[in-house]
Amino acid sequence: MQEPADAAARRAVEPVICYPNDTLPVPDMALYTAARHTAQKVDEVLVAPRDAACFKVAAGQFFRISSVEGPQVGDLNLWNANDLSERFYSGKTRALHGTHLTKGQRMWSSFPHLRPMATITADTLDWYGIDAFGGSVHDVIGTRCDPYTGNLLAGSHYHHCCHSNLTRAVADELGVSLKQAEPHVHDVLNVFMCTGFTRDTGQYFMKASPVRPGDHLEFFAEIDLLGALSACPGGDCSSEHSSDSAACYPLLVEVFQPEPNALGGWVSPPANGYNRSHGR
Ligand SMILES: [Zn+2]
Repeated sequence: MQEPADAAARRAVEPVICYPNDTLPVPDMALYTAARHTAQKVDEVLVAPRDAACFKVAAGQFFRISSVEGPQVGDLNLWNANDLSERFYSGKTRALHGTHLTKGQRMWSSFPHLRPMATITADTLDWYGIDAFGGSVHDVIGTRCDPYTGNLLAGSHYHHCCHSNLTRAVADELGVSLKQAEPHVHDVLNVFMCTGFTRDTGQYFMKASPVRPGDHLEFFAEIDLLGALSACPGGDCSSEHSSDSAACYPLLVEVFQPEPNALGGWVSPPANGYNRSHGR
């Protein structure tokens, strides 16, 4: 189509933020920090490379995902431990906070709950910001690497994509078949992954993660959580992610319990207040 005469003027219209988030409930970060200082480690799970593992975190506890041994990206799923139909909602989290998450931001749950599941309380990669390519870390724009897309694009049958790793971990945790477990797997928080969209074509890109051993992302559990973390077959995601060719390392998940009363008047957030009458 030929450009209309006012094309430049239309393009020059200033954007508006879809969801101004200045009315979002603000987490009490000072309280969380004080509670974290009292916390003792109560559990840990080491996620093997090209595999996934589940872990449980009670409301009011903290969990930390750490890089160990070498740079490694992780794909994180979260569910309400008492109702697996409530799970992390990547798309709405992106709409509320932006394409990448950091300290003070939250992982929000699916409808009809739409409440904070976890609040990020520490991020050792918060210095990275947005690089010259438009890349940043801990994205909620990717989905998870999966064997279906690989089959679509290359006819392959690779079995250690994050989707399959998460499916096996959930099946083992729930004691159900892979077919029963698979629908629970959902779009992830890409922990430590460095991603963005190319400016010229708008395509999703990845680049070598800046994460190094010792770096971590830490969360406060706002509700009882079941988590599953996959150590992506892409390793640091500097080249590809649907094969065994990348160098891969484990990821460590640790759970911390604050002292009784350390959380003061904190209460686990209720489900969303919409009355659900949907106009009838
Ligand atoms: Zn992956």
